[in-house]
Amino acid sequence: MANNKVQSKLSKEELSELYLVQYKSIREIAKMFDCNHTTIGDLLKQYDIPSRPVGGGRKAQIVQIEHNGQMVEAKRCTVCNEVKLLEDFNVDRKGSGGRQPKCKECRKRYYENNHTYINNKSMTNYYKNHEENKLKRRLYYSKHKIRLRKQQREYYLLNHEKNLLANRRYYHANKDTIVQSERLRRMENIEYYREQDRKRYIKRKEQRSIYHQKYYEINKDTIKLNSKKRKTSLRSLLFTLTEQQWNQIQSDFNYGCALSEHHSDLNMEHFIPVSWGHGGTYVGNVYPVHWKINRSKSDTNPFVWIGRNDVKELVDMDKWHRLISYLAGQNHLSIDEFKDFVNWCENNKRGGELEPNYSSLEGWRNNK
Ligand SMILES: [Zn+2]
Repeated sequence: MANNKVQSKLSKEELSELYLVQYKSIREIAKMFDCNHTTIGDLLKQYDIPSRPVGGGRKAQIVQIEHNGQMVEAKRCTVCNEVKLLEDFNVDRKGSGGRQPKCKECRKRYYENNHTYINNKSMTNYYKNHEENKLKRRLYYSKHKIRLRKQQREYYLLNHEKNLLANRRYYHANKDTIVQSERLRRMENIEYYREQDRKRYIKRKEQRSIYHQKYYEINKDTIKLNSKKRKTSLRSLLFTLTEQQWNQIQSDFNYGCALSEHHSDLNMEHFIPVSWGHGGTYVGNVYPVHWKINRSKSDTNPFVWIGRNDVKELVDMDKWHRLISYLAGQNHLSIDEFKDFVNWCENNKRGGELEPNYSSLEGWRNNK
């Protein structure tokens, strides 16, 4: 029940004027009449004055000011009393204009002056109510799961590109510090991180193999080409073959084996074996063959190899002659010159210290 003494001094009209029009708070009114704020609260109920909605207190009026030749929204900061643009205030859904009452600068100043106090207080509160808050959050989440997940998803999709870019930028700007601190953290908890790695490895094993398979299917040609590239560059040989050129070569042989009727299980074969330290991966030294032919030829001299009886069963001789003139043509040589070149390579195998990007064709020409 409201205090009768106060009630006699404060009529319904006066109270609604103070509370609803002048936007005074219950505590402020209580101070004016020297009573407890609960008395004013009771009186409001008694007079049937509707209570203001939460956050519906004295809000700064939004005004229009001129800024860079345009009319923009602004409001007065409750601390420094200056009229500032809305963007000079932090976001607050409940605040006037969707912004906080204090401007960013005042807020910053307040924090700088009181940061020890604020930090201590928030830390104390955090630990004091930690368990309780955790439970509350969990309950809230499970209750609103569907909506929250949808929101998170939408937010993620909307800001994904932007966040990715920002993260990347942050990482590059602070790379050294990040790497160092991560390394330090790992060293301090080395057993823990090892255990985590192990768990992750087992957990993602299946996923990883599916991913690798997919990746391989998509990038098959590039992967195969790169592995050839590694082998070729290991012997410092030429590697100039592009994916387009390899496609062209395959199409020249109707996407089949250059020496037989096979159309699957094909390998890229080097006419001059890489192990001789000659040739390389370039147009004029590579062609597609069935893996059995590839294995049979291995690193023997192709002109010697073709004379073997077991090879005659594997290889179509018409195709062989066509292949020789095809490769000779690509090297701008006659068939005899090409044969001489290949034989020279076999007799002058390279090993040990190798000069990079060696051209066997030039070597043959210079030593002829
Ligand atoms: Zn201010």
